[in-house]
Amino acid sequence: MPSLSSACSELANGRSLWFEGGPMSQNLLIWLDGKLVPESEAKISVFDHGLLYGDGVFEGIRIYNGRVFRLTEHLHRLYDCAKAICLTIPMTFEELEKATVETVAANNLRDGYIRLVVTRGVGSLGLNPYQCPKASVFVIASTITLYPKERYENGLHLITCGTRRPNSAALSPQVKSLNYLNNIMAKIECIQAGCEEGIMLNDQGYVSECTGDNVFIVKNGKVTTPPISAGALDGITRRAVIEIIQEMGLPFAEQNMTRFDIYTSDECFLTGTAAEVIAAVQYDRRPIGDGKPGKITNELITRFKKLANSTGTPVTYA
Ligand code: PMP
Repeated sequence: MPSLSSACSELANGRSLWFEGGPMSQNLLIWLDGKLVPESEAKISVFDHGLLYGDGVFEGIRIYNGRVFRLTEHLHRLYDCAKAICLTIPMTFEELEKATVETVAANNLRDGYIRLVVTRGVGSLGLNPYQCPKASVFVIASTITLYPKERYENGLHLITCGTRRPNSAALSPQVKSLNYLNNIMAKIECIQAGCEEGIMLNDQGYVSECTGDNVFIVKNGKVTTPPISAGALDGITRRAVIEIIQEMGLPFAEQNMTRFDIYTSDECFLTGTAAEVIAAVQYDRRPIGDGKPGKITNELITRFKKLANSTGTPVTYA
């Protein structure tokens, strides 16, 4: 377990305590505003409001076995989020779908991770988004490893983050915006505590989600997850896992939960595009269940892998 000061200095050195992400530079081809360009030429202006204010929206999408998993659902969420912040994506759904698949093919990726970003575009130094005439769109197709392999086998350790999810009257947690500072502050707390992830509560003290994943618990065979209204993102992986739970005929409910419910659960697992489905075995230093990934969690992991590897938008490679 790293000490707090070493965790802070690791952070200060710009390194996390475990490997997160993919290689920094891979000579990728990036789709940027209508063209595939080499990574070294894929540049966004310093006057882009995506950079100046975190004004924009994004998606993280996985590629499994030569298919883009739930691409249509991801694109619908992107267009909805853009609409919610009055951002016009300067291309049709079909054009963006085609650009995404093309970027995967151009980089010859059978398995990987796509980052699709829409920024408000270049504007003045003031806040006014109406002074940004055209949004920029870019697509990166690469790879990602969120947690060490050992954690996928033995489970994650979670803490309760002091940083809370914003009240939807302030900023809807439904908007997957380029402003992830709330989540980043919570992630720093996790790293400083020597954990990989943490539970974020809403302003009423109910569990919302994790810093980049949705959370589920299992108690006496019943699976529960917080409702979207508790401040959770309407995760695409969450939706897929709920479908699997229902196919398996397991009792299931979306209902408010507190830290007590996680402390006393038999099993806990997280879902997210980057994280996939992963067990959590410790919460605030207390073992969850017997401290090992649970039976239902393991079954869901197996079924999710099967689904992800056999469905999705096919990519045509050259
Ligand atoms: N919550 C947050 C805050 C996230 O950033 C993510 C990742 N997009 C998720 C949940 C999981 O959503 P999804 O399954 O769509 O990746």
